[in-house]
Amino acid sequence: MKPRDRLRIAMQKSGRLTEPAQELLARCGLKFRQSRDKLFCFGEGEPVDLLLVRDDDIPGLIAEGVCDLGIVGRNVLREFQFSNVEAGTGLDELRPLGFGHCRLSIAVPQEDAYDGPAQLGGQRIATSYPGLLGEWLRSNGVDAKVVMLAGSVEIAPRLGTADAICDLVSSGATLVANQLREAAVVVESEAVLAGRRELPADERGEIAELLLRRLDGVIQVRD
Ligand code: ATP
Ligand code: ZN
Repeated sequence: MKPRDRLRIAMQKSGRLTEPAQELLARCGLKFRQSRDKLFCFGEGEPVDLLLVRDDDIPGLIAEGVCDLGIVGRNVLREFQFSNVEAGTGLDELRPLGFGHCRLSIAVPQEDAYDGPAQLGGQRIATSYPGLLGEWLRSNGVDAKVVMLAGSVEIAPRLGTADAICDLVSSGATLVANQLREAAVVVESEAVLAGRRELPADERGEIAELLLRRLDGVIQVRD
């Protein structure tokens, strides 16, 4: 790969994190102009560019060195770390960013009693987060079957393809609409700044340090 001298930050192209991430970078004094194909935003002052992608691709792009930093949900970052142990160990959560709050939770049918993790033993649990759910089950000593679903996880119990689910919850309205209730929290999540454990030891590292300092200022003011 050709060495880059500009810092590259990956962020979600279109979704819940897009607007707050853009706003945060603007507050850090960064200005961008979007490329015609809407894949890049080029920094106009600082040597910092954005790569606009699906959120799920962000940890892998950082691990491969295509990007230096990324703005992504803790849920997505941690799932990558648990399911790609080798590539994932090089990645770190550098800062929590204070938006995109939600939790990855286990939910059971409303009519089921829930009196602790042991009750999930032998059940089929549908999720898009097999790494994080698997880790939670292991640490709670539960032997359950993880059913991987890419989307529409919340309808699995009604369809009869799972007994419980493990999915993202914020208000809980989707759970109620699907006659489910939250039983246990697996991960408390928010958007985070992700990066490799070691910042690049060149100009990009210096720009990253500068950005982190500005970010700390912005986050402090907001708190
Ligand atoms: P993409 O097309 O980028 O893959 P997506 O559908 O996976 O988009 P969004 O629904 O925009 O992603 O969610 C992005 C992130 O927003 C989630 O990974 C999570 O960290 C956060 N988030 C906050 N609240 C919620 C919620 N209620 N449901 C889902 N995600 C939420
Ligand atoms: Zn996604």
